[in-house]
Amino acid sequence: MTLTPQPGILDIELYKGGQSQLPGVDDVIKLSSNENPFGPGDLAKEAFAKSVHQLHRYPSSDHAALRAAIADVHGLDGERIICGSGSDEIINFLCQAYAGAGDEVIYTEHGFAMYRICALAAGATPVEVSERERVVDVERILEACNERTRLVFIANPANPTGTMVGGNELARLAAGLPDQALLVLDGAYAEYVDNFDGCAGLVEQRDNVVMTRTFSKLHGLGGLRIGWGYGPADVINVLNRIRAPFNLSQTQLDVAEAAIRDADHAAFSRKENTRLRAWLAAALMKIGVPSDTSCANFILARFADRAEAEACDGYLKKNGLIVRRVAGYGLPNCLRITIGDEASCRRVAHTIAAFKEDRK
Ligand SMILES: *Cc1c(COP(=O)(O)O)cnc(C)c1O
Repeated sequence: MTLTPQPGILDIELYKGGQSQLPGVDDVIKLSSNENPFGPGDLAKEAFAKSVHQLHRYPSSDHAALRAAIADVHGLDGERIICGSGSDEIINFLCQAYAGAGDEVIYTEHGFAMYRICALAAGATPVEVSERERVVDVERILEACNERTRLVFIANPANPTGTMVGGNELARLAAGLPDQALLVLDGAYAEYVDNFDGCAGLVEQRDNVVMTRTFSKLHGLGGLRIGWGYGPADVINVLNRIRAPFNLSQTQLDVAEAAIRDADHAAFSRKENTRLRAWLAAALMKIGVPSDTSCANFILARFADRAEAEACDGYLKKNGLIVRRVAGYGLPNCLRITIGDEASCRRVAHTIAAFKEDRK
């Protein structure tokens, strides 16, 4: 065999998504992919239906209308926004544009899988920095930086831990990075935090910070693949050079625009999430399953050890509940549970209680 891919590619493990079916069990509830249990709002669905009439037309390639809507709703400069097929594509653009052979890409111990995948795909060297009790540690990241560091990825709130790093810490990190490095703040869950701009303010204060956001979580559009990034004008200019002109369909653009302008659906989804997250965390705590205070739309339930987490996962599956094992994220004793609607939260709490009772 003389056909070999670029170095690093074969180090990427094939991605395994959250399961959505259980053989032999109907009435399955999927709480494994941090999806909005209510789906998109009516305005987004109407935009989707309407878009069917223009499927023969090429989409806008500059995304001007969607960028203007995002800029409007978030109070940002639309010229510094880039839209992609999920925020995954923005993460990929950043690695392709700024990291190559011999360069290092930093992410943290329990960090999101895409950072490592995109770094390897770009031929760069992934560097994993340890966290402190499931929280990103800025000091350790600064210690790991050197003249080869090109990108530092942090999700804030983080997935799968649900924890956050404070704004002052992030400002200190941005100020302490080597000159050739860019800080990327992944705000996939930023909308779930009250009065949080996802660090857009830090992006505006500095020339080495980029923020990524998504329509996949709060806006309930994971299936449609829309995300965006906000950064310094010259960085956005660089990313636009490697972006395919028609990377988003007009359907994606129109639905995203309707979704971001639907403040009511966003507020409803956020409010239910906050209420049910507190309820579920307390219910699990009461039966001896603690979790860190989560700032996102899931909680990371901690069990005594790996064996108990695996047994509980099996018990949940037998009862039609799919949650996420996170051993691959260095958390073998944990299960990540997406906050569903009220019935789902009650069912998952009830089932874990029955599991605990069985083991007594
Ligand atoms: C879900 C998630 C995303 C979103 O990815 P999309 O490609 O926009 O669907 C990004 N970052 C993190 C940390 C996530 O959990």
